[in-house]
Amino acid sequence: MINFLPLGGADEIGASSFYLNISGTGILLDCGIHPRKNGIEALPKFDLLNELPLDYVFISHDHQDHIGSLPFLIKKFPHVIVFTTTQTKEIAGITLHNAANILTENLKDENSFEIYTHDEIDLLVKSIREVECDVPLIIKGLRHHGEEIKITFIDAGHILGSAGILIEHSGGKIFYTGDINLSDQSIMIGADLSGIKKLNALIMETTYGASDSEKIGSWISESKRFTKAVNKILHKGGSILIPVFALGKTQEILSMIYESMKKGELTETNIYGGGIGKEISRVYDKSKFITRRKDRDFELKEIPQNDLFEIEDYNHFKKHPGIVLASSGMMIEGTSSFKLMKYWLDQKDFAIFGVGYMDPDTPGFKVINSKRGNKIHVTDFDEERNVNCEVERFYFPSHSKREDLLKIVEQTKPEKVILVHGEASAKNWVGKEILTTYKNIKVYAAEDCRGIFI
Ligand SMILES: [Zn+2]
Ligand SMILES: [Zn+2]
Repeated sequence: MINFLPLGGADEIGASSFYLNISGTGILLDCGIHPRKNGIEALPKFDLLNELPLDYVFISHDHQDHIGSLPFLIKKFPHVIVFTTTQTKEIAGITLHNAANILTENLKDENSFEIYTHDEIDLLVKSIREVECDVPLIIKGLRHHGEEIKITFIDAGHILGSAGILIEHSGGKIFYTGDINLSDQSIMIGADLSGIKKLNALIMETTYGASDSEKIGSWISESKRFTKAVNKILHKGGSILIPVFALGKTQEILSMIYESMKKGELTETNIYGGGIGKEISRVYDKSKFITRRKDRDFELKEIPQNDLFEIEDYNHFKKHPGIVLASSGMMIEGTSSFKLMKYWLDQKDFAIFGVGYMDPDTPGFKVINSKRGNKIHVTDFDEERNVNCEVERFYFPSHSKREDLLKIVEQTKPEKVILVHGEASAKNWVGKEILTTYKNIKVYAAEDCRGIFI
């Protein structure tokens, strides 16, 4: 019997971490941190592991909701062996240091919570063992040397280095999707799961389970709508703020903008960016021949960019208009997109364009769902502000549309589906569709801290 226990991220996009006990071998799938919570609240419930065997951690990709708590886990369980793809390991060396700086700043008045050091991150990243996609690896429990378990990372098409994890053992086959995307983006090619069949259990993300796919559209149709809207603002002399995740969305949107400019569809203008987004872009360029992507000749370094962090006076964007790509993607308080957004809201010729997922409890969600002329509080403690700029929402998904999630079920033919990484409404839609279409599949809406026997 296999026991599955979510430590976090079952009911929301939060601190994703899912424990599997396969005949005494303990495996953790992902080790995320909650993007909006602080201190111990932001971590998966690691205490549940105190009495359980834990041998290995497999990280699906580098977004903080999947890797952010790894340094805390390793402090608590230093014997654990961590596996990631080569690209995830390299990017972790950038993002974990950046996350440590943010945590230290956020928790400077909190004495009870011990944060890891940069030296500890260096040691951790060095200790990560690299796996190539599609090349299986065999593991055995560290203590009891039980049965052999075969692990295969499969490219998930979500961001550079992202992978789903296939686990094969004598009792069956389990596939954890991580964050997965079946459609092409501007750089990345959608995941190909054709080699995965007849699963015992599918542990599947449901980010877009509650989103109408007609609204989401495709990268191609959305990029046309986006280009038109950007041109309109630029012709008025305004600047456009695009809040983006430094990892993934930054590179995809940059590539799309540059391509439209080269084709003459988008007005040539300044592009502002920088910070860790630029460092991550280097890893994208470096791995262009060894990862799946649309155009192996294209490099992000071709794109001329102005350093956003050199600009202290935001009036600069009136004199030198352009497109500003700033993280965080959900305009979390204190980040550069949050600071820029406050200035932007006052400018009638400017615009804020949303391009990715926004958690309903973030400033980004409040802003992107407002319209010019509205009055909003960007946080619970912030004064009321007028929305004077234009606000528009675009959909450039890096997660599967909900119909594609059903395609994964169709393709992999699982006996059981465990739904994670989504709100209740998202899991309900996906769960209901699976139950209506397939009479023989059991569906579980996973809950944090509640075990399931699979
Ligand atoms: Zn992700
Ligand atoms: Zn995620």
